[in-house]
Amino acid sequence: MPIYRCPKCCRVVSLPEGTYYCRFCGPAFIMQPIQIKLAELKPQLYCSRREPPKPPSPQEIQPIRRWVINKPEGGLWTSTFLPSGDEVYGMCSDWLRWCKSDMPDWLPKSEDYCWVLYPSDDAEVVEVDDLEDYLQLLKYYSWLNPVTNKKEINFARLARDFDGFHLTENGVWKLRHLWEYPDIESFYGWDCESTVWFRWKFDVVRPLKAVPHSCKIR
Ligand SMILES: [Zn+2]
Repeated sequence: MPIYRCPKCCRVVSLPEGTYYCRFCGPAFIMQPIQIKLAELKPQLYCSRREPPKPPSPQEIQPIRRWVINKPEGGLWTSTFLPSGDEVYGMCSDWLRWCKSDMPDWLPKSEDYCWVLYPSDDAEVVEVDDLEDYLQLLKYYSWLNPVTNKKEINFARLARDFDGFHLTENGVWKLRHLWEYPDIESFYGWDCESTVWFRWKFDVVRPLKAVPHSCKIR
């Protein structure tokens, strides 16, 4: 569904194609279509870092805050569930694939630390898959980091309008360095395909061990 934005109050809504005015600002303010892509997410894998492991829940979603460059703190983090395993290590998410190759100590100790989450159809998760998606997003949701003097995503602002943010595997690799755009921050440090959820938008949650899949975690 297209996304429209009020030119006055900046309120964002997704609606079927049409002409709308802002319900708050009045008929003088026609909602403008903006080119922001929403994800169609498959089931997600969540891994708890707690001891003992704690299942994901709405209470686990912390407010979004600035953390490191172009990456927020808070929310709830998932990676797309890959029931037949990734191509390199056969792990059942890109996050587990990255842990296996770069940070084996971070691998969950067992399947008891992992859950599969099924996103609701009405979840509005912004997706960045390539440079064009990223540039469009920065038009509306960016701030200038005074330390680096580069534009990056304003995740707190994004969290007011959407349910989450998804960086695809393609995005991870293509946007890892942006040498040709010295005034824009890259996604260096995202490491793997992932979604940060700003709101609880899941229909069902199942323990990983209750869902057929090929990997053994460790
Ligand atoms: Zn308005």
